[in-house]
Amino acid sequence: MPPLKRQSPLDRLLGRADNLDSASLAILAQRLAGERDLLETVFNTIQEGVLLMDATGVVEYANDAAAVIIGLRAEDWGKVVLWRLVPCLARSVGALFGADTGTGPVVNANGAPASAKSAPPPVETVAPALTQEIEVTYPERRFVRLHMSRLHTQSAGRGPRFVVILRDVTAERRRTEELVESERAAALSPLAAGLAHELGNPLNSINLHLQVIRRQLAKLDPSPQGERIADSARVCSEEVERLDALIHNFLGAIRPVSPASAEIRLLDVIAEVLALLKKQCEDLGVRVAVNVRHDLPVVSGDHDQLKQVFFNLLKNAMEAMDKGGVIDIAAESDDEFVTVSVRDCGAGIEREAVSRIFDPFFTTKSGGHGLGMFVVSRILHAHGGDIAVESTPGHGTTVTVRLPQKHRRFRVLAEKTE
Ligand code: ADP
Ligand code: MG
Repeated sequence: MPPLKRQSPLDRLLGRADNLDSASLAILAQRLAGERDLLETVFNTIQEGVLLMDATGVVEYANDAAAVIIGLRAEDWGKVVLWRLVPCLARSVGALFGADTGTGPVVNANGAPASAKSAPPPVETVAPALTQEIEVTYPERRFVRLHMSRLHTQSAGRGPRFVVILRDVTAERRRTEELVESERAAALSPLAAGLAHELGNPLNSINLHLQVIRRQLAKLDPSPQGERIADSARVCSEEVERLDALIHNFLGAIRPVSPASAEIRLLDVIAEVLALLKKQCEDLGVRVAVNVRHDLPVVSGDHDQLKQVFFNLLKNAMEAMDKGGVIDIAAESDDEFVTVSVRDCGAGIEREAVSRIFDPFFTTKSGGHGLGMFVVSRILHAHGGDIAVESTPGHGTTVTVRLPQKHRRFRVLAEKTE
């Protein structure tokens, strides 16, 4: 059954268009223009991108959201072919109406090859609609869910036209990726923790035997041979200590993070961390300037975990400043978040390394474990916060940590469990 159509005054006027005089025709044209403007305004308030294109892929109309998602400029309308703008669309669009998209084999919605050069197949053999998730890289990287269907109404003299609905699902996709990541970590943890514990026993035993060797050596008469053995034993002990520290850090890093929800004053946490690092700061000639208001809103979180975050960040900042200098800690807040930045004027991070500093075991330090930033990002994500790093090699690094205020964290947690 065809859908019911409401007769508007405009429809009635259009029905009599043949008999209208020029004044009435002018009114009709005005009303049509008004109606079009209204519809355009409505379309531009929709968050989804809406596109209309003809059978050759030329974009005839795009609402504001679509223009933003695929980077379409006003002058492109009526000229540009959609899959030139979004090359990865070529396959799916071709699948829908068998058009020649000019970018290699065309595959239909079921994945079967379709003839690219032939005329559009009969309507009934064409998939009626297509939904697909695509990745758009221009003007920025986004994941877009695309739904395309053929318009049933046909204007005289025109081939088939297609409506494309684009929905930006980047945020959704990221959440899924994070979930997968956390599930993978959860599956890995018991195994890895088990292995780390197992390693602990033989290490203990090696350590004990090394002590025995040292004691026995001490009882022997001094000799060059004995000294060489003592040297080797010392190197072994140092390596055992290193492994022990690595296992300790590793176990800390993979421990599940389910933060408590206490009211935390970040200024107090920072003060505690600075007390711990005081001696090391003095040795390095580093001064820490804290520029944080006393009435900074509290955040909801886990005291020990947040302490670990600032400890790791400040330690990295200090370790980057072997020539001494000042580390600036500043904070600000808006309605939802508290943001704390730690700025050092140390060595900075090379461009290629910036994207890797959150990877477990990525380190540029000879005695580093590469787990500090990994732990920091895990803790922050578990708190509903995030972290950004900006660095200029040779000049320094600013790490910015964003934590949700109490009211926001509760809302997000509630949404997650819905
Ligand atoms: P580690 O400190 O054991 O090397 P992290 O995970 O804490 O491990 O840091 C990883 C790497 O990130 C460091 O080796 C260093 O290259 C870089 N990095 C982190 N913070 C800073 C900083 N403030 N300045 C310069 N480099 C940094
Ligand atoms: Mg570190």
